[in-house]
Amino acid sequence: EPIVRARGLVKTHQADGVPVKAVRGVDLRVERGEFLAITGPSGAGKSTLLHLLGGLDRPDSGQIWLGDKRVDTYGEARWAVLRRRSIGVVFQFFNLISNLTVADNVELPALLAGHSTREARQARAELLADLGLEGRERSVPGELSGGEQQRVALARALVNHPSLLLADEPAGSLDSKGTREVLRLLSRYHERGQTIVMVTHDARLASAADRVIHLFDGRIVDEATFGKEPPRA
Ligand code: ADP
Ligand code: ADP
Repeated sequence: EPIVRARGLVKTHQADGVPVKAVRGVDLRVERGEFLAITGPSGAGKSTLLHLLGGLDRPDSGQIWLGDKRVDTYGEARWAVLRRRSIGVVFQFFNLISNLTVADNVELPALLAGHSTREARQARAELLADLGLEGRERSVPGELSGGEQQRVALARALVNHPSLLLADEPAGSLDSKGTREVLRLLSRYHERGQTIVMVTHDARLASAADRVIHLFDGRIVDEATFGKEPPRA
């Protein structure tokens, strides 16, 4: 069973009362353990599509399944619960809470998901060690480099062991060293079995994925698979 299935997704934004068609009928399937990259030029609808898959935005029409759950009909409260338990998101600008320490940023989603303080601390400590951030626990995000902040954001996204990790231009605000680092880490978690969907306008980053779909003007116009059999439709 795939982790994600989407059919006929359509999303129109309102930009100052003017409708902007961002996603115009997308069908998509992401298999368990797959690393999928979504590429395409700026404005192609990549972020919108990712937001639809993560419940950060609602489609106008179309269906989305996460595992065996049909989720496009979920209201905000049900989505909030599902997101906490099953979906981790990494953003271009990290979106860390600037007045919380690194430790608190990473522990917060675990606490919100109902884990005990002890469990949250344990999970945070393991992830920060794994990501080479020991000793940074008491820092606030502004004291860290961009690459370090993105690693904290990755720890936060993974703290509840999500079945799906979404990454929206995860290297988009990093220098070349930070870019290599974040890609290396995504590849590492992918090798450990993490399902990942990453949006990037940079074709070089997409080559870390198993499969790339190319979005143009709100539609999938091309698809390529690297090194593995394509998932069966
Ligand atoms: P990409 O991630 O490929 O750059 P986006 O999904 O961000 O594409 O945007 C697709 C189109 O929808 C663009 O024309 C963009 O300006 C528009 N758009 C995206 N988000 C919004 C929004 N919240 N309000 C209005 N227009 C939006
Ligand atoms: P990206 O393409 O990397 O997502 P954007 O600058 O397109 O970056 O979008 C950044 C944020 O602004 C997103 O949350 C998007 O939904 C929103 N956005 C994009 N275009 C518009 C727009 N025309 N009007 C309002 N919000 C927008």
